[in-house]
Amino acid sequence: MLYRKLGRSGVKVSAISFGSMRFPSEEACHQIIHRGLDLGMNYIDTSTGYVGGKSQAWAGRAVRGRRSEIYFSGKSNWAQAPTADAVRKTIEKSLEATGLDYFDFYQLWGLQSAEVVERAVAKGGTVEGIEKARAEGLIKYGLGFTFHGPPEAFQAAVDSGALLCATVSYNIINRKEEPLIAYAGGRGVGVIIMNPLAGGVLGLAGEKSLDFLRDGYRGPWYGALRFLLANRNISTSIIGFTAAEEVDQAVQALQGAETLDEPYRQQLIRKMEAVKFIQGDFCTGCGYCKECPNGFDPQKFMQVMRDFAIYGVDERDLAHWIRSKYPHQDPVEQLKRCTECGECQEKCPQHLEIVEQIQKAKAALSID
Ligand code: SF4
Ligand code: SF4
Repeated sequence: MLYRKLGRSGVKVSAISFGSMRFPSEEACHQIIHRGLDLGMNYIDTSTGYVGGKSQAWAGRAVRGRRSEIYFSGKSNWAQAPTADAVRKTIEKSLEATGLDYFDFYQLWGLQSAEVVERAVAKGGTVEGIEKARAEGLIKYGLGFTFHGPPEAFQAAVDSGALLCATVSYNIINRKEEPLIAYAGGRGVGVIIMNPLAGGVLGLAGEKSLDFLRDGYRGPWYGALRFLLANRNISTSIIGFTAAEEVDQAVQALQGAETLDEPYRQQLIRKMEAVKFIQGDFCTGCGYCKECPNGFDPQKFMQVMRDFAIYGVDERDLAHWIRSKYPHQDPVEQLKRCTECGECQEKCPQHLEIVEQIQKAKAALSID
């Protein structure tokens, strides 16, 4: 295993580590975590909301008996616990869910503006509550943040000096946050990458345009991970494993990774830029938008639209494409359920224009 310093936290994390958003079952979760621990992985990112609220408890049970081998990170939404007292209660509740005595790290998400950062670090704010929890042993190392906002919020969070690490969405397709990664790295804030495989897009076995990322029988995930490993500002990448075999695969990308350098990274960027592929933000399949009050499934729909963009199908074929992706449902009936209220869009961490995409699909299917 390759280990890298997590900023100024003083700990060394495995360069590939565990996400916890895609565990298909508790059994699979335990197999994944045990396999990873056996191979030397030592960091897991968890949150109260993943896998219908179950994944944190699954992961907690999986590390029982091996607690000292892993840095276990918890997470909460700033907006839901914006004061010292509120966040303290959230931490206690999450610890109860995991069955653990302490978290190693705790991540705040929802620091959406410089003003919110200011409120979080102010007296009586979230940071104070988390520091108190740390002094009492509920959090061992300290606080980080999970970032989905504008650059000025990111810079304010780093400049506050209160945060040890930043979890950032980044991969070879969507490199928008690259300057922020360098900003954090240059200031001793450890960088943790989420969506390293672009929500599974970089695992696409049949995608010819991504052949430059393959290595023999290894799919595009191989080059995509090595691209991240070549960036020394990145401490670790959390992967949403769904099976223990994927852990073994991912670790193959570490072979000789210390020799991967900036020219290698730039070469991959040039190759990526030459490919006609989806650009900018796209659906990572996180599922935050899933609960639609009218019974439509925006998560599934947005992945259908994402793949339409990826495969570069002619715009005139959108109606056919949508129908082919709903073989057991009538997509017209499905889309008619959507009143375009925008509730799902507000929850999307990638800030995708879900309603606009729904309107586009409705127009293609001639729905009034
Ligand atoms: S816009 Fe509203 S009705 Fe439409 S899918 Fe999203 S939440 Fe459901
Ligand atoms: S549309 Fe947004 S919230 Fe919904 S699954 Fe995709 S990335 Fe997640």
